[in-house]
Amino acid sequence: MLRDAVRSLAEAKIAPYAAAVDEEGRFPQEALEALVANDLHAVHVPEEYGGAGADALATVIVIEEVARVCASSSLIPAVNKLGSLPLILSGSEELKKKYLGPLAKGKAMFSYCLSEPEAGSDAAGMKTRAVRDGDHWVLNGVKRWITNAGVSEFYTVMAVTDPGKRSKGISAFVVEKSDPGVSFGAPEKKLGIKGSPTREVYLDNVRIPADRMIGEEGTGFATAMRTLDHTRITIAAQALGIAQGALDYAKNYVRERKQFGKPIADFQGIQFMLADMAMKISAARALTYQAAAASERGDADLTYQGAAAKCFASDVAMEVTTDAVQLLGGYGYTRDYPVERMMRDAKITQIYEGTNQVQRIVMARNLP
Ligand SMILES: Cc1cc2nc3c(=O)[nH]c(=O)nc-3n(C[C@H](O)[C@H](O)[C@H](O)COP(=O)(O)OP(=O)(O)OC[C@H]3O[C@@H](n4cnc5c(N)ncnc54)[C@H](O)[C@@H]3O)c2cc1C
Repeated sequence: MLRDAVRSLAEAKIAPYAAAVDEEGRFPQEALEALVANDLHAVHVPEEYGGAGADALATVIVIEEVARVCASSSLIPAVNKLGSLPLILSGSEELKKKYLGPLAKGKAMFSYCLSEPEAGSDAAGMKTRAVRDGDHWVLNGVKRWITNAGVSEFYTVMAVTDPGKRSKGISAFVVEKSDPGVSFGAPEKKLGIKGSPTREVYLDNVRIPADRMIGEEGTGFATAMRTLDHTRITIAAQALGIAQGALDYAKNYVRERKQFGKPIADFQGIQFMLADMAMKISAARALTYQAAAASERGDADLTYQGAAAKCFASDVAMEVTTDAVQLLGGYGYTRDYPVERMMRDAKITQIYEGTNQVQRIVMARNLP
């Protein structure tokens, strides 16, 4: 029922704008409004903080169905979870009440600020500094590649509080867009997910109350990594949705397109491609939903499962979308058809929340 409801909404209110959002590189405002109106913008927020209280699998289904028509729009529910999960996992009750309510109501979005210009895969090498000053912390530094930066009101920022301790000297904070000293870089000009703004976040002597720290001092990096264990599954969901959207489009196209006097769907070479695409998507879906169940239960092997689902589903999304372009021939290579956008959008799922090389490192360190 959830899937049907989200699919109908996505097809009616999000799909019609997907091509324009991509072409114009603009924020999918129509999608935000439709998702908020239907309480689907941040379904993971627990009921006690005013949210829908969706479990990990339901959240995955929402993201998957939105991504099926518009990957950029799927980053609204996905990044709202990414940005706020550190707070949900490790924040104080006061902090949760203050920040999760506006998120659940659709009055504010949340972003996640881990990466920096010189600290990507090696995120613990970050330089952003937080220095204690009485009952405040003062933050200085640059966060890079921040999804929904400028649109979000709230930012979970990881910063070094004890430079000698590397990952154990990093703490997490909630920073507000309106805090003096917060500003944003120009939107990045990207290959895909062009409707999702990606910008630098500048922290210039940002002075915030000490109670904005999430959890204990020095636990920020551990919280950031624990968050990714859960949210990589939402990237898998996004990848899965993109792949399914490409297969659905290609499947219909080959039934209509005639060459050599018959629909190209009648050729076995085409049928085998479609069968392989469907098979890979089924496998990716099984892995993703299994990982979502592990996330919900807090299974001991969640780190492995989250990395495996993200890595596999994103590789499948890249293969399936590339094949979808192939199935449409020259038409697939143009912006008159959606599969080239899907192929460009799929690529990012192999890169963010840890590249697929990093996922393989994570899996190798946590073999089941
Ligand atoms: C559109 C977009 C949105 C993003 N959104 C966010 C966000 O909201 N918040 C956030 O904090 N970050 C975000 N990121 C950052 C993203 O997570 C990083 O780009 C990613 O982790 C890779 O870091 P890097 O770009 O610095 O690449 P690098 O770390 O420089 O990696 C370059 C290459 O080297 C490989 N590599 C690195 N180390 C190893 C190794 N040990 N073994 C093998 N190969 C290795 C990588 O796999 C990659 O192929 C976003 C990025 C993009 C492009």
